Amino acid sequence: MTEGIISAAYIIAALLFIMSLAGLSKQETAEAGNWYGIIGMSIALIATIANPAVTGVPLIVVCMVIGAVIGLRLAKKVEMTEMPELVAILHSFVGLAAVFVGYNSSLDHSSLIFGAAKTIHNVEVFLGVFIGAVTFTGSVVAFAKLRGIINTSALMLPHRHKLNLIACLVSAYLMVNFVNTGGDLLPLIVMTIIAFAFGWHLVASIGGADMPVVVSMLNSYSGWAAASAGFMLGNDLLIVTGALVGSSGAILSYIMCKAMNRSFISVIAGGFGTDVQVSSDVDYGEHQEISAESTAELLKDAKSVIITPGYGMAVAQAQYPVYELTQELQKRGVEVRFAIHPVAGRLPGHMNVLLAEAKVPYDVVLGMEEINDDFPETDVVLVIGANDTVNPAAAEDPTSPIAGMPVCEVWNAKQVVVFKRSMSTGYAGVQNPLFFKENTVMLFGDAKDSVDKINKAL
Ligand code: NDP
Repeated sequence: MTEGIISAAYIIAALLFIMSLAGLSKQETAEAGNWYGIIGMSIALIATIANPAVTGVPLIVVCMVIGAVIGLRLAKKVEMTEMPELVAILHSFVGLAAVFVGYNSSLDHSSLIFGAAKTIHNVEVFLGVFIGAVTFTGSVVAFAKLRGIINTSALMLPHRHKLNLIACLVSAYLMVNFVNTGGDLLPLIVMTIIAFAFGWHLVASIGGADMPVVVSMLNSYSGWAAASAGFMLGNDLLIVTGALVGSSGAILSYIMCKAMNRSFISVIAGGFGTDVQVSSDVDYGEHQEISAESTAELLKDAKSVIITPGYGMAVAQAQYPVYELTQELQKRGVEVRFAIHPVAGRLPGHMNVLLAEAKVPYDVVLGMEEINDDFPETDVVLVIGANDTVNPAAAEDPTSPIAGMPVCEVWNAKQVVVFKRSMSTGYAGVQNPLFFKENTVMLFGDAKDSVDKINKAL
């Protein structure tokens, strides 16, 4: 392929990536968006390999086949609830790749460059390795937190913000040193170790309920890591793609921070300003229990019902019986609507995807802010596997780790039924005073079994 054709292929691929992002922003066009992305990436890969400057094509193809087989197997096996973990670990690969590209680019003496070009190249290498290393360890910690391998609550090292600041200042000093010495490896190696520790600490200091923002923030970092690799390799498409991922991830992080009433700067600076510890020794009193049959009786007498789903609905795969329940209640003249919290579940839009999968019509599925004022006029609220996203402590207890996060104010309804298996806490690891309120009853058991039983009783 000539250089002209390769450039044209890159432009087409970049346009397809933009169309892909635009498509993915709406449910109706998401499938087409996926296809644009697949086609764009295929064009990009073919154009890259077909470049006459690329040597060792058979080896690249072997690596691609191995990677594709592993990727396909993983993607087929992964549960919807494990998606953020998969995304986090994939981000870590991008970060590590940027570190390798940086070292390779620094060691590669074949590119004999001098003067200003050399300085620019060294700055690119240094920044690329820094961003890549932070993304790598940060994503590994995010993966471990999401998988439950390490504690999800925020790590509170003494002087943690000062430690972060020192890491940044020392890295800046090392960059000057690296550039002045014309690319000496020692400052690069020392900075890489610092950046690994910095990335680890940055994400470890962010508490459980803020993890959605961390995942999208790491998504953004992985984009910048890819863009910096693009600069080092002189690959325009990688720069464009990295910038697209970097900026869209940053916009998503900003939107999620706004939805959760968190300061964007605070979250990207490793939980700056959130110095609240989880306390588990508060006595909230006794809770009350209810059976599936009695819940069915409650629903028969109700005129309006709001269903607030959360992560537990995804685990139980209860969306299908939930839809049957919706239809049955609608047949009986009950108004049924859904209240969706922006971070319910484990990935943005998780609940919307599950409900769409079960064919629940979009018009009864409402965002939290659209429906929050309607709870006081609602007869029965069914909280199906949600916990943090319906926790009144966020609104009522300024010392709570989730204080200030907007939540679905289900407790304002006349009657609340909470579907879960035990009294255990939600993802953020904080107890939920909702369970002990006078108008709340607990329906223990797997959410799917419970909804099935209610359907049968109805
Ligand atoms: P939570 O994770 O707070 O709680 C889910 C509840 O579901 C648990 O308390 C659990 O209780 C219950 N549950 C689990 N399995 C079942 C089952 N089979 N049947 C019935 N109940 C079950 O859920 P929310 O959706 O309210 O909140 C999401 C949390 O995840 C937030 O803290 C959010 O910040 C975080 N997060 C969100 C991401 C996103 O992008 N949306 C990404 C990463 C984290 P029990 O064990 O007693 O059954």
